Amino acid sequence: MKRTAGSGAGRVIILGVVAASLMASDFACAQSSAGRGPLTVPPAGITGSIPQTAPRAIPPARPNAMPKRLVQATPPKEWSGEDGQSSDPRMTAAAIREAAANFDRCVAGFAPDAARRGVSQANFDRLTADLSPDLRIMDLMDAQPEFTKSVWDYLDVLVTDARIARGREILAQNAATFAAVEKEYGVDRYIIAAIWGIESNYGTQGGDRSVLNSTATLACIGRRTAYFKDEFLAALEILNHGDLTPQQMRGSWAGAFGATQFMPTAFKKFAVDFDHDGKRNVVDSNPDIIASTAMKFKKDGWKQGDTWGFEVVVPQGFNYMYADRSKVMTIAQWEQLGIRRASGKPFPRATDQAYLTLPSGADGPGFLMLGNFRAIMRYNPSEAYALAIGHFADRLRGGQPLVQQWPRDERVLSRDERLELQQLLAQRGFYKGEPDGNLGNDTRKALRSYQVSAGLPADGFASSGVLDRLRGGSAPRASSGNSGGGFNLFNFGR
Ligand code: CA
Repeated sequence: MKRTAGSGAGRVIILGVVAASLMASDFACAQSSAGRGPLTVPPAGITGSIPQTAPRAIPPARPNAMPKRLVQATPPKEWSGEDGQSSDPRMTAAAIREAAANFDRCVAGFAPDAARRGVSQANFDRLTADLSPDLRIMDLMDAQPEFTKSVWDYLDVLVTDARIARGREILAQNAATFAAVEKEYGVDRYIIAAIWGIESNYGTQGGDRSVLNSTATLACIGRRTAYFKDEFLAALEILNHGDLTPQQMRGSWAGAFGATQFMPTAFKKFAVDFDHDGKRNVVDSNPDIIASTAMKFKKDGWKQGDTWGFEVVVPQGFNYMYADRSKVMTIAQWEQLGIRRASGKPFPRATDQAYLTLPSGADGPGFLMLGNFRAIMRYNPSEAYALAIGHFADRLRGGQPLVQQWPRDERVLSRDERLELQQLLAQRGFYKGEPDGNLGNDTRKALRSYQVSAGLPADGFASSGVLDRLRGGSAPRASSGNSGGGFNLFNFGR
């Protein structure tokens, strides 16, 4: 399901059928701010008004930010023959047909690049002999599901008793390897096991498409050919080197493969031959799988000895403008604002830096996210995904279910409703962008401003209630100069 360009690092695409069907609704797009940047420096102070922070630039789409809607439960085998839903001119049926007709010539044109990477013409010819365009991928790449999953549905499906039980078996069976890897890479075994369990259900659900064929298709057809050309060439290198056979190298439509769903370029960066058999086998070798995943987390800044975050209780009257990924403060500062761990236990270190997030708004649990949460999000820039991984890791460690209840009676907005929400916010001067149905950081900011002006908790959560209120027509309009979030207008502690 999903991953980062800049950090191209972790492009891993979740494949598990279960996970993929969930991601089909990618909560990240629907409800979490798409903020993918690193944690920012803490604001200077915490008293009085919330510090004004400059809006962060939205980074360019990252390769690993691919839609996770990779696999459907029963995927049709054939291309629909229809235009894509992205409105990209390269995704029209005519453009796809034209590119597909040129597929063999396109692939042959990659031979010089492959040669520069050490792939001989003979090997290139052998490895590419049977490639053919898999146009069904074009439908999958451009799918825009009408409904998105709520964060609680997402957690329910990903963090199950069966997956926890199997994870504990995996941890016991590979205890010596996990210990050696923890020692060498400093990465928590439970996080690695959680990635393994959620990305591929421990290697049992990883997709069945030829990675070379999928990446060749995407390198020649569609709207992301430049990105996938690099993935295709990396896949060729892996096969040319002999780490894996073409039969082993099968995965998602986007080319993620192996137990923890590495993209080919991620394999090149992170794969480790931990069992010293001369091959980096992230498909069938548990030592290689565990060490390679640890290597990725190490390179992504995992801090040994730290956890990812904590479930927290937010006090009555809390100023929700603080619940923003850009507002990083120390645990001590959060405690001064009345934030407590839901478990009732003390925080381990008052000096840890964290930001507060409320995935389902003021009516659901809060979480303080530490720096390691960022490392998880480099695996997949979805906050819901990273929360599932973190919570699942805690459960594998023996931790308890979340203490607080999700607002399970809250209805998830449809795509049309999300669009309408943005349009209504725009009409009232709160939203400046082009309504597109994707609720990102700008929508959240607009919602917060609206909520403040309407006297509602400014949690930025796109609930059906707030949509109904906007539809009512009596909603307040933005005052001039207050459409960007208006953080400085509101005092803490009201
Ligand atoms: Ca090996």
